[in-house]
Amino acid sequence: MARVTGSLYERRQTRQIHVGDVAVGGGAPISVQSMTTTKTADVDGTLSQIYALAAAGADIVRCTCNEQAAAEGLAHIVPRSPVPIIADIHFHYEMALAALEAGVQGLRLNPGNLRKPEEIKLVASEARDRGVPIRIGVNAGSLHKELYERFGGATPEALVESARMELGYFEEVGFDDVKISVKASTVPLMIEAYRLASEAFDHPLHLGVTEAGPPPAGLIKGTAGMATLLAEGIGDTIRYSLTADPVEEARAGRQLLEAMGLRERKGLDLIACPSCGRAEIDVIGVAKQVQAALEEKNLPIQVAVMGCVVNGPGEAREADLGIAAGRHRGHLFIKGKIVRVVPEDQMVEALVAEAERLVTEGIEARLAAADAGAAEEAEADRRALFEEKGKDANASEARVELIRKTVEEHH
Ligand code: SF4
Repeated sequence: MARVTGSLYERRQTRQIHVGDVAVGGGAPISVQSMTTTKTADVDGTLSQIYALAAAGADIVRCTCNEQAAAEGLAHIVPRSPVPIIADIHFHYEMALAALEAGVQGLRLNPGNLRKPEEIKLVASEARDRGVPIRIGVNAGSLHKELYERFGGATPEALVESARMELGYFEEVGFDDVKISVKASTVPLMIEAYRLASEAFDHPLHLGVTEAGPPPAGLIKGTAGMATLLAEGIGDTIRYSLTADPVEEARAGRQLLEAMGLRERKGLDLIACPSCGRAEIDVIGVAKQVQAALEEKNLPIQVAVMGCVVNGPGEAREADLGIAAGRHRGHLFIKGKIVRVVPEDQMVEALVAEAERLVTEGIEARLAAADAGAAEEAEADRRALFEEKGKDANASEARVELIRKTVEEHH
């Protein structure tokens, strides 16, 4: 299989399809998907969720189309949506036709519960005539009974075979505008199924661990499965399936791709030290305050919150901006260089103000605007703390001595 080099990982070369104006596969940026939880017939409720999902990082949103009222809702939703809409179809082929009438930019069919070849081919021909792509969304939990029996269970081979059969029907009507998913709720099964699918097809693959459950376990399962495959160059679009507000799915999807260097940073990347005996502040509390303030402003910036000035600025020197605490003061640094020293109770405020300026004015300009004397002041704090606490902030050596003495005394 041909491969293309992209960032750290060699991405598997797939053909490209378009879901509305979002390219999927063929070297396009990996897209993030999520799904609304509202009744699709509730147009305003669904649209407001779609807007929230798009703001959190979703490039494409899926809505269920399970009844006529849902299809009618889609007719109002699609023209007002900020991102392309995919209709999720189970059991009822006529809902797929209705969704196409509503103008959706994509369909998702489940081959496990939409089974009649004539119906599948009719939907595919309609999609073909309108230039609308279809995802063949195989799911281990709803696999064809015959395939289940033939393969002795929902094996990776059975999932891939289900997609292959569906593709066969599509090909009979000359339709090939397709992406494929072979999801399972078990991570090893899902990984193996996608590996096989990536060998079997050159269609773009939509990754996901289905029914992963509530966070944090759901996030871990999704990440374990999707990140493993992405690191192997497999996957063109992703979705976390969480039992949570779908905004969390969209945000997680975006964060996964940014963390892996597969998408440019669009939002905040907060680095915070785990804190230790040296910490001069409540790192967890300050990190939360910073996160809330900066997420609200949606700044595309990497920010570090470090518990002490002894190690903080050095350890976080790659961050665009950071704050480290010491002797009741906050040391504000840009790319590891101290630019300002502020009282501790103003550090969050100062950090947020600097973040906004940094985004508009740029790193060089803000470095040039550093307070005169800030570096010297910071160095004095750092040295004083170092001398006060030394290398052994937790006083562990002294404790060990104490333990030895106690044991000796009682021996
Ligand atoms: S040494 Fe300082 S920066 Fe590093 S974990 Fe401890 S408090 Fe945080």
